[in-house]
Amino acid sequence: MGGGMSVTDLDEQQRRLVLTAHPLQRVGAYALADLAGARRPEEVTPEGFDAAVAKMTADAIQAAKVRDTKRPEGFWLKVSLSFFPNSKMNHNAQLKKSDEELDAGIREWRTPPEPASWPGVRCVLCGREAVGFYGKVDVPLAESHLYRNTTPRGHAGLALCWPCVCSFHALPYGCRLTGGPSIALHSWDERFLAYVVSGQVDENRRIIAVGQPADKILAREVVALDALRHYGKPLTAGVELLVFSNNNKGQTLDIHCLEQPLAEWLRRTSQQPELRQGFVSLLLAHVTPTSPGVVGLARNAFHAPEKIPAACARYLTDRFDRSGLVPRDAADLARLCFSFVIEVMRMKESDLAELRATARGVALLLSRESSGGKLREFNSTLHDQRRMQDWLRRQAVEWKLDPKNKGSQPLLSSRAFQLLFDTSTDNQAPFHRQLLFIAVLEELHRLDWCPKDAAEVAKEIAEESAALGVDDTKYLEGEE
Ligand SMILES: [Zn+2]
Repeated sequence: MGGGMSVTDLDEQQRRLVLTAHPLQRVGAYALADLAGARRPEEVTPEGFDAAVAKMTADAIQAAKVRDTKRPEGFWLKVSLSFFPNSKMNHNAQLKKSDEELDAGIREWRTPPEPASWPGVRCVLCGREAVGFYGKVDVPLAESHLYRNTTPRGHAGLALCWPCVCSFHALPYGCRLTGGPSIALHSWDERFLAYVVSGQVDENRRIIAVGQPADKILAREVVALDALRHYGKPLTAGVELLVFSNNNKGQTLDIHCLEQPLAEWLRRTSQQPELRQGFVSLLLAHVTPTSPGVVGLARNAFHAPEKIPAACARYLTDRFDRSGLVPRDAADLARLCFSFVIEVMRMKESDLAELRATARGVALLLSRESSGGKLREFNSTLHDQRRMQDWLRRQAVEWKLDPKNKGSQPLLSSRAFQLLFDTSTDNQAPFHRQLLFIAVLEELHRLDWCPKDAAEVAKEIAEESAALGVDDTKYLEGEE
């Protein structure tokens, strides 16, 4: 026992939650706090702690008594297999016992060991007095390096204090549960973490009560997107998605990260009306024949954010290609796209302004055409930088010779030229050419330009109406 500490101090300490550097412990601590009716782990009183632990024990006993994970009310028992394998609530030998014996076994498992048996070492997570060594029955150990580095020879697990053990016992309440690997959303933004976990606890307590799993998850990444888009305050840190299983059949842990600027951008696009308008188009831009747009968007956000504006550009050019019309949502999507390149990709605002100035000139020239042929010509140069250079140079001459443009800026400034065609420093030139095309469409949309030869396809387009699939529509409805 700790030197100089009275039994009462220790007793109090072992009923006080502490946040550690371990993301899963943190998610569990927030879940336990929520079960105790507190907003934050530090605010949980020893009495609140006891009540929350009692609640968890009662849920475990109730689940174990079902004895069959395949029954609808067996979901919590099934969940326990991927959090607490071989434990007193799900081990075969246990489940053969009487209700009373099962009850007693689970209570014993969820009761702190007597101080006399404490190992005299510190908790590896918070540094307080440990009450024992804990293995995979209580703690997801997929982070095996932590396990290896801190486990003394002959000991079966991590030295942990009781509140840290209980944080892991509360972990399933704070996760999105699938019956298979679980999904924990973590952030160092404490307010956001509290918000996410508390919502998850409510959902899981409902599931325990009615005994059935939540709706199917479209993709693990969508869980994060969902939480971000419903959250009302600015994000102060990025978010991590931890997908893990502690199951006997294999311990796994995948971590996917989203940096703060992108997390904040995704959140804000649902709150600011002028950005939100483009969100439907952003989803449409990510629809593939096999998956809804929300899945494509969420996956790109986590794994390849630079593909987000590229998908927008491809979507707009495809739509133009098919119809010869400036897409109705060109301006809305362009606005989203430009906010993305400034806030997430950190493009200089002055550079974007150069590209947009060129786009304004190009759009003005194009808008004097009665046919869409010239815009098609421009579109076809997107993947051929020499041809685009030649095309823009021809427009620049036309621009300069036009008396209306006397005294105005050249169509193509030297900086714009560099951004579009210089490949010596980075590989952004093809991307800048896509941005230019988006900006041209945005301008033409603003000028309300409609080529005469587009009339025949207009009807067809109206019918097409860019319909979203069932999953995306449902997703958007959830946001209202
Ligand atoms: Zn601890």
